[in-house]
Amino acid sequence: MIIFKQATDLHRYLARQRSMQQQTGFVPTMGALHEGHITLIREARRHTDFVVCSIFVNPTQFNDPNDYKKYPNTLDKDIYLLEQAGTHALFLPSVNEMYPDGLQQLEHYNLGYLETLLEGAFRPGHFQGVCQVMARLLNMVQPDQLFMGQKDYQQCMVVKWLLRHLHMNGTQFIPVPTVRETDGLAMSSRNLRLPLADRQKATAIYLALDHLRSHLSPGPLAPLVEEASGILEKEGFRIDYVAVGDADNLSPVDSWDGKQALVALVAAFLGEVRLIDNMVIAR
Ligand code: AMP
Repeated sequence: MIIFKQATDLHRYLARQRSMQQQTGFVPTMGALHEGHITLIREARRHTDFVVCSIFVNPTQFNDPNDYKKYPNTLDKDIYLLEQAGTHALFLPSVNEMYPDGLQQLEHYNLGYLETLLEGAFRPGHFQGVCQVMARLLNMVQPDQLFMGQKDYQQCMVVKWLLRHLHMNGTQFIPVPTVRETDGLAMSSRNLRLPLADRQKATAIYLALDHLRSHLSPGPLAPLVEEASGILEKEGFRIDYVAVGDADNLSPVDSWDGKQALVALVAAFLGEVRLIDNMVIAR
């Protein structure tokens, strides 16, 4: 695996790959890699010839400075895991490499209603940061295929919007299903920050989502959402939201007609660690 720290070196190298008709797959990450990330790498290997992973903890997408400061860093292990998985190139830029003109006065993206609900509402500026870093990374890598996890359901929608906005018709977006621990907890770098006792409680997020899926019936959804919230509160979660939305556009759904495709989404704190998860509960 070749490690690049400079965008110009990466860009030059990838141009040569492209001239040899090699299809490039791209997996952007913030490191502290786990089996979820490695599944994205495997998918990229299955679909493309040359797999690029990036590790960059993007300061502009953290609305909470403490969350940024405490974001786990396991770089040596990450490099080992990426090599084992057959990653061809790792891009490891500094903040200055990504934002040479500083972090002030960055571009603003007109995300519309997508930014007004769920993660957009609870993490002001988060999706602006996601777009700022993804626009730069996409421009540097210009992948044929981009692999991202459905664990971040709303982020997938934002990045699909960004690809259209940037007219990157040559980049295909490939969503990858959420990889879970055996007890159902979605794998996440932030799980590393959970004390052992909280790690056991954290599975309640999966149980709440599964409750929504298995008890879903046509009619008002509020009682079911309340039950799911109760499952989380019993374990001491502080809830940002438990929501049910249209699976295609995330618009809120109060009453189910028995046909509409639905996704249930949760964001909640255990102690100071914020976890998110989602599940398609009707297709
Ligand atoms: P992150 O390092 O958290 O920014 O995640 C990098 C990529 O990995 C994103 O596309 C995430 O959606 C994806 N990802 C994170 N956790 C999982 C998981 N448990 N299963 C599948 N994909 C994941």
